[in-house]
Amino acid sequence: GEDADLARVAELVRDVPDHPSPGILFRDITPVLADAAAFTVVTTELASLVGDADLVAGVEARGFLLAAAVAVVAGTGVVPVRKAGKLPRVAASRTYELEYGSATLELPADTIAPGARVFLVDDVLATGGTAAAAVDLLTDVGATVVGFGTLLEITALDGRERLGDTRVDALLRV
Ligand code: AMP
Repeated sequence: GEDADLARVAELVRDVPDHPSPGILFRDITPVLADAAAFTVVTTELASLVGDADLVAGVEARGFLLAAAVAVVAGTGVVPVRKAGKLPRVAASRTYELEYGSATLELPADTIAPGARVFLVDDVLATGGTAAAAVDLLTDVGATVVGFGTLLEITALDGRERLGDTRVDALLRV
């Protein structure tokens, strides 16, 4: 069943202490992606949340892998939400604060029509700063974000509080 499948997915997430900096417990989901059955479960579960969205957007870089697979299953296109300086033509840009310093996310030009309905995907919801910036970016270009789906939510960080009215679904919560 679904619960047994997700329990197997949870077993494949690797906790890596002190990465990328001391005190951070990094939740490495790459073993989930490398396991055919687990990757299918995750992709199918996230695709079931896409609803009537026209597009799936994924956050660089692990979010790309999930978003592309989800889009194929859901029958939508896919759009990358990229880190700064990678795109040849930028539709919108947002800078947000990290624990130390800041980061910038960008959307590519000529990919999202005004009024498009977009489902946003990333691997991990931590503080929510990244997902909130991605929602703001999509809103900037005239899209409607129908929801945010993530493989794993770190609940103690209250990331979903940063996402306001956006619907948030996590396959695993730790
Ligand atoms: P945040 O903006 O704090 O919600 O961080 C979310 C983004 O950073 C996602 O793209 C994650 O891939 C990554 N991330 C942040 N914290 C972690 C963590 N503890 N384990 C794995 N990935 C993380």
